[in-house]
Amino acid sequence: MGLVTRVPAGRSYRLYLATRMGEVVRGKCPRCGRVAEAPKGMFLEQTTCGECRASVVFVLLAKPPAREG
Ligand SMILES: [Zn+2]
Repeated sequence: MGLVTRVPAGRSYRLYLATRMGEVVRGKCPRCGRVAEAPKGMFLEQTTCGECRASVVFVLLAKPPAREG
Protein backbone atom coordinates (compact mmCIF):
# COMPACT_ATOMS: atom_id res chain seq x y z
CA MET A 1 0.00 0.00 0.00
CA GLY A 2 1.60 3.23 -1.09
CA LEU A 3 1.53 6.14 1.23
CA VAL A 4 1.67 9.59 -0.24
CA THR A 5 1.85 12.46 2.15
CA ARG A 6 0.80 15.92 1.12
CA VAL A 7 2.29 18.72 3.09
CA PRO A 8 0.19 21.90 2.69
CA ALA A 9 3.05 24.21 3.58
CA GLY A 10 5.31 22.78 0.92
CA ARG A 11 5.04 22.51 -2.81
CA SER A 12 4.39 19.29 -4.64
CA TYR A 13 8.10 18.99 -4.19
CA ARG A 14 7.53 17.51 -0.78
CA LEU A 15 5.62 14.63 -2.27
CA TYR A 16 8.65 12.69 -3.26
CA LEU A 17 9.89 12.61 0.27
CA ALA A 18 7.24 10.00 0.90
CA THR A 19 8.40 7.85 -1.96
CA ARG A 20 11.28 5.49 -2.04
CA MET A 21 14.22 7.61 -3.04
CA GLY A 22 16.40 4.58 -3.46
CA GLU A 23 14.07 2.99 -5.95
CA VAL A 24 15.87 2.39 -9.22
CA VAL A 25 14.13 4.09 -12.09
CA ARG A 26 14.95 4.92 -15.67
CA GLY A 27 15.81 8.41 -16.76
CA LYS A 28 16.53 9.95 -20.09
CA CYS A 29 19.11 12.59 -20.84
CA PRO A 30 17.24 15.56 -22.35
CA ARG A 31 20.29 16.36 -24.41
CA CYS A 32 21.46 13.18 -26.06
CA GLY A 33 18.57 10.88 -25.28
CA ARG A 34 20.65 8.37 -23.40
CA VAL A 35 18.59 6.21 -21.08
CA ALA A 36 20.17 5.27 -17.79
CA GLU A 37 19.08 3.54 -14.65
CA ALA A 38 19.78 5.04 -11.27
CA PRO A 39 18.18 5.59 -7.90
CA LYS A 40 15.32 8.04 -8.19
CA GLY A 41 16.96 10.43 -5.79
CA MET A 42 19.82 10.87 -8.19
CA PHE A 43 17.59 11.85 -11.08
CA LEU A 44 16.04 14.64 -9.06
CA GLU A 45 19.27 16.54 -9.08
CA GLN A 46 21.64 17.69 -11.77
CA THR A 47 23.74 14.82 -12.95
CA THR A 48 26.57 14.53 -15.38
CA CYS A 49 25.41 12.41 -18.27
CA GLY A 50 27.72 9.50 -18.87
CA GLU A 51 27.21 9.81 -22.59
CA CYS A 52 27.40 13.48 -23.54
CA ARG A 53 29.02 14.68 -20.32
CA ALA A 54 26.51 17.49 -20.01
CA SER A 55 25.23 18.51 -16.62
CA VAL A 56 21.55 17.83 -16.94
CA VAL A 57 18.48 16.83 -14.99
CA PHE A 58 17.38 13.50 -16.36
CA VAL A 59 13.77 13.11 -17.40
CA LEU A 60 12.11 10.38 -15.41
CA LEU A 61 10.58 7.72 -17.59
CA ALA A 62 7.42 5.91 -16.74
CA LYS A 63 8.36 2.83 -14.89
CA PRO A 64 7.32 -0.50 -16.30
CA PRO A 65 4.31 -2.20 -14.74
CA ALA A 66 5.44 -3.45 -11.39
CA ARG A 67 3.92 -4.64 -8.22
CA GLU A 68 3.19 -1.86 -5.81
CA GLY A 69 3.60 -2.35 -2.13
ZN1 LIG B 1 23.47 12.99 -22.43
